[in-house]
Amino acid sequence: MKTKAIALFSGGLDSILAFKVIAEQGIEVLGVTFSTPFFGAEKARATARRIALPLAVIDITEEHMQMLHSPRYGYGKNMNPCIDCHTLMLKVAGRRMEAEGADFVLTGEVLGQRPMSQGKQSLHVVAKNAGYPDRILRPLSAQLLPETEPERSGKVDRSRLLDIQGRGRKRQMEMAANYGITSYPAPAGGCLLTDPIFTRRLRDLFDRHPGHRLRDIELLKVGRHFRLTETTKAVVGRNAMDNATIERLAGAGDALIRIEQFPGPTVLVPDGGSEAERQLAAGLCARYSDAPRDREAVTRCLLNGITTALTVMPATPEEAERLLI
Ligand code: SF4
Repeated sequence: MKTKAIALFSGGLDSILAFKVIAEQGIEVLGVTFSTPFFGAEKARATARRIALPLAVIDITEEHMQMLHSPRYGYGKNMNPCIDCHTLMLKVAGRRMEAEGADFVLTGEVLGQRPMSQGKQSLHVVAKNAGYPDRILRPLSAQLLPETEPERSGKVDRSRLLDIQGRGRKRQMEMAANYGITSYPAPAGGCLLTDPIFTRRLRDLFDRHPGHRLRDIELLKVGRHFRLTETTKAVVGRNAMDNATIERLAGAGDALIRIEQFPGPTVLVPDGGSEAERQLAAGLCARYSDAPRDREAVTRCLLNGITTALTVMPATPEEAERLLI
């Protein structure tokens, strides 16, 4: 029977090379990539199409959210729980391997490329915690790592695997040239959990709104966010696109505030807030509108189908700065 592998595929150069090294041994490869509210599958999709790799996109939002609240190995510089995230991806890829009757999972990881998450010990720990210590193969560094089951059983020819390590890209560039790969996406980027501003908002949401929903995570991606009180926040659109997104994400029980007579932001108060909180949000609405700053402005607040006029002084820059999350 033909050997079959599942490739953990990000779409970056290392994942392309790992796939090539295995595919040229005549092994059938199916790519898998993942989506959550924090990162998507676009890069992987586009690259897989270019190199003719069949790709399954798996939405791991539920399991990822669960893990994100208390990652066993903690967070990186921001709220990126990379070791646990990697473990989860390998676990899901491993399940796919079993479902497809495949023989092993391969990744584009390179030993020592990221000192924290790609040291020998970390590579072993994630494979073990994912539940497949012996069936996760890193073709680019395999000769520097313990032999895995597919190598031992001869399904993969270990002598044709590589011994790349470290942060340098020279060997990968040479391989890309040999394979005739001329374009590939930049290695990093794309995960919101590594973004300091997004992380600040996410931490605030986790700390103060334990009952948050997916919609609340989506809201973190748009506008400016302000903490009005311990229990209530406001989201203020920065441009027409933000305003449209905020309106689309608004639901029953939320308050939507807009200014009268002047161009200005749409402001959302999730779950409506109190009268005083809506008044505060209306002040922010006026502050970021084209209305004069030195006199009262009239805003309209829509809540539970009822529109109310709120007349407010625009918030001062100091006040806005103090409330900004
Ligand atoms: S950068 Fe984001 S997607 Fe990548 S491992 Fe870390 S948390 Fe996961």
